[in-house]
Parts: sequence; structure tokens; C-alpha cells
Amino acid sequence: MYQNQLPESIVELAQKLRLLPGVGRRSSERLALDIVQLVDEDFTQFYTAINTAKQQITFCSQCGFFAERVAGQQETLCPICKDSHRNTKQICICERPTDVITMEKSNMYRGCYQVLDALISPLDNVFAEDTALPHFLDIRLPAILEKHQEVELILFFKAGFGSEATTAFLKESIRQKDWADRVSITRLAQGLPLSFNPDTLDAQTIIKALEDRREI
Ligand SMILES: [Zn+2]
Repeated sequence: MYQNQLPESIVELAQKLRLLPGVGRRSSERLALDIVQLVDEDFTQFYTAINTAKQQITFCSQCGFFAERVAGQQETLCPICKDSHRNTKQICICERPTDVITMEKSNMYRGCYQVLDALISPLDNVFAEDTALPHFLDIRLPAILEKHQEVELILFFKAGFGSEATTAFLKESIRQKDWADRVSITRLAQGLPLSFNPDTLDAQTIIKALEDRREI
């Protein structure tokens, strides 16, 4: 009832804020009210920051994590791929860029990543070519194997059919390569809740699951 008393532009702004996952009716209205009450200077900075982030952020051309666009440069690398202290013999394969952030929370994993964008799910018409798997298997992984004798792929997928289908595809594709015996595939420990959601995993759970990972 009470929202009828809010001016239309605030209701409209609140509606747009609900485009963000996790923002419900109450918090969207509170945020909208906070935004319109910002002093002009703060508002300008806020607005500019949103605009800049949206325009500047793209995806790492190597691993698919978030990266900053650099003017005049085709290739954009994320902070993790640019970091020379990372172990490039370990690649954590995950579905979404935000899964990288979850894994980084553990503060223990020092390897690199490959974000797939999607998991294979034929029922939803998502096939290997709709994911970053061809890029990874045909370009990136062979390039890594030129530098290292052995590479470990650590699978970090949300439990479910997509996880099973993607794992099976990866295993089978690698099995057919002549470098197959140089690549080991591990999966985070079964200690993870059966239907775990990467967004809600805490650091301790990830550390434990990483330590107890199993070869598959
Ligand atoms: Zn990267």
C-alpha cells in the first residue's frame, strides 16, 4: 500500500534495482531512496562509477574471468592471468566468472582458471561448442602443455546433470589426445553438499574440498 505514496520515479528506479539478483522489493525501495538522497557530488561519482565499470569490464581472453578493457588492445587479461606467481600447471575449470571469486575466497588455491560460460546440457540445447571448451581443449591446454610436462585440471561445477555431462565430455575429449597421460583431472571432494551452490560456499568448505580432491 505505502509504495503508492512514493513518487513514480522512485518506484521506477526501485523496479530497475530489482534486476539485480538478491535485491527484493524492500531493499530496492530503500536503495532507491538512498540514491535520490545522495548529495549531487556523491551521486555524480556513483553514476560515473557504474557507467565506467559497465563499459570497462569485459572478459579475460585467456580464462574468461572479469578483465579490464585496455584501449587499443585486442587481448585483455584478467589480474589472475597477469600474475606471474600463479601456478599455471593447475587449472580450475568452472562455469561462471563469479565461481572464480568463490574459489579465491579460500586463499589457498594459487593456480589458474578456465571459465566455461555454460555447462553442457543437451536437453537445454547447450552443447560443447556453446561453451569455452573448444577454445580450452584445442588452443589453451595444448599451449600450456608446451610449457609443462604435467597439468592438473580441477573441476569445480555446481552438482547436477550439467556437471556430469561436462565432466564426461572433458574426460572423453582428453582421452583421445596424444597428450592424454600428461593431464590429470580431479574433482573437489565429495564432502561438498550434494546440491552445493558455489555462491554460498564458505572458505573453510572450499579449503577442505580442495585438500581432499580426488582424481577421476
Ligand atoms: Zn584470465
